[in-house]
Amino acid sequence: MVFQDPSTTLNPVLTVGDQMTLAIRAHEAVTARAARDRSVAMLGRVGIPDARARLDAYPHEFSGGMRQRVAIAIAMTHSPDVIVADEPTTALDVSIQAQILHEMRELTRESGTALVWISHDLATVSSMAERILVMYAGRIVEEGPTATVLRDPRHPYTRGLLDSLPATARPGHDLNQIPGTTPSLLALPPGCPFAPRCVRATELCAGDPPHRVDAVRGFRCHHPLGVAA
Ligand code: SF4
Repeated sequence: MVFQDPSTTLNPVLTVGDQMTLAIRAHEAVTARAARDRSVAMLGRVGIPDARARLDAYPHEFSGGMRQRVAIAIAMTHSPDVIVADEPTTALDVSIQAQILHEMRELTRESGTALVWISHDLATVSSMAERILVMYAGRIVEEGPTATVLRDPRHPYTRGLLDSLPATARPGHDLNQIPGTTPSLLALPPGCPFAPRCVRATELCAGDPPHRVDAVRGFRCHHPLGVAA
């Protein structure tokens, strides 16, 4: 798992080397020296220069981008089959975000690790993901190949997200937005939870939307876009 904010992921009172060797030795019976050597190698892989010397530094002695690289190194240490990254670049400035995206793409490609990238940033998602799952109120409402879903969405919520991108705004006009707000998960409306905000809603939407599939994707909607009634 790689979390959003690396300054709260890492323990502030332990050196980076201690945290990495603890993580390694929690899962494998290796000597402290071997765990340290492995930590140096992992830090080098995620682009931290002078890795052996940096093992004895504390998290506050690293920049935000470097701290996130340490968190990624810890996540990659045991060559996992899958990494779940929860908005891992949101807390970083834009130039560092681009580097981290590039490095995570390369690292996971080299090691064959699957990457689940949780994000509200569609530009990042379109550059990172082969498949996309769009969620609303805790439910998957549409899923399929990223390019297909973003080019030609079936679900009105996906369409609303795309229409709300600042790049779609016209000079002198308000930004587009989906009306209303997300419902409380403790008080979801009956049927489709998106209904109070959906321009295509009808009485039918008071019932649970059916799960439909076409050639390459799935979506949950009574009145999907681009599908004959
Ligand atoms: S099921 Fe109805 S309310 Fe929900 S997204 Fe589809 S059209 Fe809109």
